[in-house]
Amino acid sequence: ELSRAGWLLSFQSLKIGKKIGQGEFGDVLEGEYMGHPVAIKNIKCDVTAQNFLAETTTMTKLQHKNLVNLMGVILHNGLYLVMELMSKGNLVNYLRSRGRSMVSPQQLLRFSLDVAQGMEYLEEKRLVHRDLAARNILLSEKEEAKISDFGMSKTTLQPDDLTRLPIKWTAPEALKHNKFSSRSDVWSFGVLLWEVYAYGRSPYPKMSVKDVVEGVQHGYRMEAPENCPPAVYNLMRSCWMDDPGKRPTFKKLREKLENMMKGE
Ligand code: ATP
Repeated sequence: ELSRAGWLLSFQSLKIGKKIGQGEFGDVLEGEYMGHPVAIKNIKCDVTAQNFLAETTTMTKLQHKNLVNLMGVILHNGLYLVMELMSKGNLVNYLRSRGRSMVSPQQLLRFSLDVAQGMEYLEEKRLVHRDLAARNILLSEKEEAKISDFGMSKTTLQPDDLTRLPIKWTAPEALKHNKFSSRSDVWSFGVLLWEVYAYGRSPYPKMSVKDVVEGVQHGYRMEAPENCPPAVYNLMRSCWMDDPGKRPTFKKLREKLENMMKGE
């Protein structure tokens, strides 16, 4: 049944190369699968955990040019996840290391639109990400931005597991009442936009997590990053509306970003 699904890959066909990242469950390695460059995560877990495999099945079914594609899994000393290789690394490091002098406003808009497109797809599929942040956006060799870390660990997150939540990215209703939805992902997208236009700075600089939670509850919102176009800042502010129903959908955000791109 697994091999018929086509996503159970063979360990023999995998070439493992050097370490390129550090994940929560273990190292991320570079490699090759049947001639294709890939990234590999070895998860040393109890793979008999059925829901874990079920989640990877879901992931292989989600295919979009702005999602990091999971090519398949290998059962060998735990679980290997074989993904498309995103050779330019994560968006935060990319923006921090290059900065204003090397990344054009046009490119910032391109990254934002790429993420909105991927999120529109997840929104259509009724899949809530819960951990949308610039650190979870990876860049391909051609510098296309793709969303990673969807589907996994999020759905297995325990409802009371507040300690693991990325507080500065999480919508108030999600923090307070555990109400996660595409609209709470939209809040996080607003924070991600801020990170992008601040060239990878951490959001709410110099504020503690506690101050952010309290501040946001009382209407505090981040200022525009330096040189941020007002139209982009307006988008951020719309993502940070208190009432989730008043926030734009990803479809709407994608349309607006597309129009800005045309207008440039
Ligand atoms: P998990 O969600 O499994 O806990 P994590 O969030 O702890 O994982 P990731 O963010 O997925 O870890 O990976 C850590 C780092 O490894 C990333 O920031 C990135 O630099 C690198 N990395 C992850 N996946 C890829 C990939 N497909 N291609 C290239 N580099 C990757």
